[in-house]
Amino acid sequence: MSILHTAILKFLNIFLFFMALIQINAQQTVPETIREEAEIALSHYPELKDTPIVFKIIKNIKKSTMRAQPKVNTLFKSKKKRAYVILISEKIKISEKVFYTKDVPKDIMIGWLGHELGHVIDYSKRSSLNLVWFGLKYYFSGSYIKEAERAADTYAVTHGMHDYILQTKRFILENADIDEKYKERIRRYYLSPDEIMEIVKEYEASKQTE
Ligand SMILES: [Zn+2]
Repeated sequence: MSILHTAILKFLNIFLFFMALIQINAQQTVPETIREEAEIALSHYPELKDTPIVFKIIKNIKKSTMRAQPKVNTLFKSKKKRAYVILISEKIKISEKVFYTKDVPKDIMIGWLGHELGHVIDYSKRSSLNLVWFGLKYYFSGSYIKEAERAADTYAVTHGMHDYILQTKRFILENADIDEKYKERIRRYYLSPDEIMEIVKEYEASKQTE
C-alpha cells in the first residue's frame, strides 16, 4: 500500500471514529467523541431514560454552542412520545481561538450537556402548544431567554450537577481567550456562580425538611 493510501485510510478511520453515533440505550444515540460525557450527564436524569434523545455534532450553531430542541415531527405527539435533539457545534467559536468540541475538558462538557438536559426536562413538562409559544417568545424576548436559561441551569443543579455547572460557567467567564461578547451574553442570561450556590443551598435545605 502506498503512503498516500495509508494516510487516507488513517484519516478515514479518525473521521469515522469522531462521527460514529453510538447507541447508548434503546432511545438515545450520541457521537463516540462525547459518549462518556453524555452518559455521565444522563445518569443524573434517570427520568429521561426512556426519552428519545439524539446528540448530534453539527458544523455551526448561530449564537451558541449547543441547543436542545424537540424533534419537529414529534412536536404534536403526546408528551411521552416526544423526541429531542441536542445539537452541539463542532467548533466552539466563542473566541479568537477556536475550541474544538472534542478538546473541551471532560467536566466542562458534562456540565454543558447537563444544562441542555435541563432544557429537555423543562420542555418535557410543556404541552405542544406551549412549546411552540415558548419557541416564539425565546426568539423575540430577552427576558424570556433569561427565564428559560435559568430554568435549565436550575434543573441541572437540582439533579445534582452543580459542580459541573459551576465548572462550565467558570471555564467561560474566567477564560481570557473567550470573547467578551460571549461572556456578556452568559452573564446576562444565565445564572451566575453565586446564584447557583444559592440554589444549591436552598435545594439542600428543602431536602432536609422533606
Ligand atoms: Zn441553554
